[in-house]
Amino acid sequence: MNEKIDLLVSASFILPLDDKTVLKDAAVAIKDDCIVAVDKTENLCQRFSPKTHLHYENALIMPGLVNGHTHIPMTIFRGRADDLPLMEWLEKHIFPIEAKLKPEWVYWGALLGCAEMIRSGTTCFCDMYPFADEIAKAIDKAGLRAVIGEALYDFPSPNYGPTEKGLVYTENLIKKWQGHPLIQVAVEPHAVYTCSPELLKKAKELAEQYDTSFVIHLSETQSEVKQAKERFGFTPVMHLAKLGILDKRVIAAHCVWLTEEDIDTLQKHQVKVIHNPESNLKLASGIAPVPVLLKRGITVGLGTDGPASNNDLDMFWEMDTAAKVHKLNQGNPTVMSAWEVLRMATIDGAKALGLSDVGSLSPGKKADLIVVDFNQPHLMPLYDPVSHLVYVASGKDVITTIVGGKILMQDRKLLTLDMEEIYDRIKEICAQHHQILATS
Ligand SMILES: [Zn+2]
Repeated sequence: MNEKIDLLVSASFILPLDDKTVLKDAAVAIKDDCIVAVDKTENLCQRFSPKTHLHYENALIMPGLVNGHTHIPMTIFRGRADDLPLMEWLEKHIFPIEAKLKPEWVYWGALLGCAEMIRSGTTCFCDMYPFADEIAKAIDKAGLRAVIGEALYDFPSPNYGPTEKGLVYTENLIKKWQGHPLIQVAVEPHAVYTCSPELLKKAKELAEQYDTSFVIHLSETQSEVKQAKERFGFTPVMHLAKLGILDKRVIAAHCVWLTEEDIDTLQKHQVKVIHNPESNLKLASGIAPVPVLLKRGITVGLGTDGPASNNDLDMFWEMDTAAKVHKLNQGNPTVMSAWEVLRMATIDGAKALGLSDVGSLSPGKKADLIVVDFNQPHLMPLYDPVSHLVYVASGKDVITTIVGGKILMQDRKLLTLDMEEIYDRIKEICAQHHQILATS
């Protein structure tokens, strides 16, 4: 008698991503939320009787992409203010409207972001934003996997109010979502330039108390480094090191402007770094020394950053940019191979988020996978799928997205989200913004 399983997904190719091996005419067997086997389709068809069998010719099954750093509710500000330096963009255009932020804006913006990610092959992400509970509710509805947290800073929050209430809000959020199969709550102070040393230290204590991640923006711009040196006498990295904050639970977004001492310190404390090349390019923040970090054995994931500074959540485009920008920067086309970049967007990205059970397709791991349609002119002929995934494919080529064994998109149709409703609510929110801008 064949073993009963929930789902069998088969295709012409599978890239499990433990190494570069591509399996031909192979399948992934899924029971509950886990992968039970990856093998030739004919072998798995003999061994299992699945409730559902999805088959794709001329397509590739691979692990879902991991977006290591974003602010998904910022979909509602997409295209609102472009072509500005980071500080001016934040202080004149983003912080003023965020001061009037409403929970329903965050919820619907997060749902729009979830829809965009499911449709572009992202199955897991790390988010930071106010009203994080609304984001968690949206993620729960969409069925994605995420590490999320409330943005903490020294000025009053539109959500929790005065600074001292931010940690209380975060602690309650951790307790509320504890044990959720897909959502993990982290402690997330915004940055060294927006958080006092006291807030940073208390945030770290809370992360330790609940054994969760500590997420922060770090050394994103030259002006941030200059300011930190003036205020604290150290670079942002060394400031955190002196406060005793750096260790392996710290996930640091950006890390663009690093000294040799900073890099030694990140390596020594096993800090995880998230590279956001498109946001760094758009805001002209700089180019993070990622090839150096990788050589030093530092775990580096890849992220889009918020959709108001990118302006999309497509991790395929992010991979393409990540592979190319360092080649130009170093005048060396051999740096940042497609394979290294693909790992940053999958298995290494998952590792950076402290998630050991996603990022590759092997028995025992969570069933987070996507199917990429190679039956298209821009993806032919096929010599090397890794090359196509990094240099040619886009999110639009993803046809099916599965998280924890649940099908979130099948043949481009979203199964957990009502797009008509989301579009209507987003249009309403956009109209409210226009009104606020007209009266302010
Ligand atoms: Zn960010």
